[in-house]
Amino acid sequence: MVDFTMGNGHDTAFLSKTVGVSGRVYAFDIQQQALDSTAQLLKDEGCPDNVTLIHASHHLVKDYVKEPFRAGMFNLGYLPGGDKRITTMRETTMPAIKAAIDLLAPDGILNIAVYPGHAEGEAEGKMICEYLEGLSRHKVCATLVKILNSPTSPFFIMVETKPPKA
Ligand code: SAM
Repeated sequence: MVDFTMGNGHDTAFLSKTVGVSGRVYAFDIQQQALDSTAQLLKDEGCPDNVTLIHASHHLVKDYVKEPFRAGMFNLGYLPGGDKRITTMRETTMPAIKAAIDLLAPDGILNIAVYPGHAEGEAEGKMICEYLEGLSRHKVCATLVKILNSPTSPFFIMVETKPPKA
């Protein structure tokens, strides 16, 4: 599994416990602070020793993950409690999502949480939705979950690949 936006490590810890000792989790962040707090959280929560913490931008995923993955998460935006100026940006989020879809195994799932309450988050969300709307339904199924009467609330996207042919 891949956590494309490690942050304080809550999603990384969840993925680590979910895949267990026989699995592997790769987690990315551009801030050393995120790697430090995630390493501490994994220890505090007694997670299995199955996580590779990567101090790099998620758009470089193919340099680090050389096999298809079954599940991935993008929790976009800025580090809670950190510097709000350091946020995910369209220039790297889009190539990261494209690379993630390339690497996603059959019957795999990619979850994307978008925060349109700030300007970059709103633009990022629009660009992601436009890109996914253009993908063939034979390649992936992209689902949007959004609160229609609260336009600045976070919204969620799931990208699923088809199961392998029997
Ligand atoms: N999943 C995290 C958790 O459970 O605590 C929360 C993630 S937080 C909303 C978004 C994170 O994305 C921040 O820590 C930020 O540093 C990181 N980020 C921003 N740009 C990035 C990039 N290009 N590659 C990887 N991570 C990035």
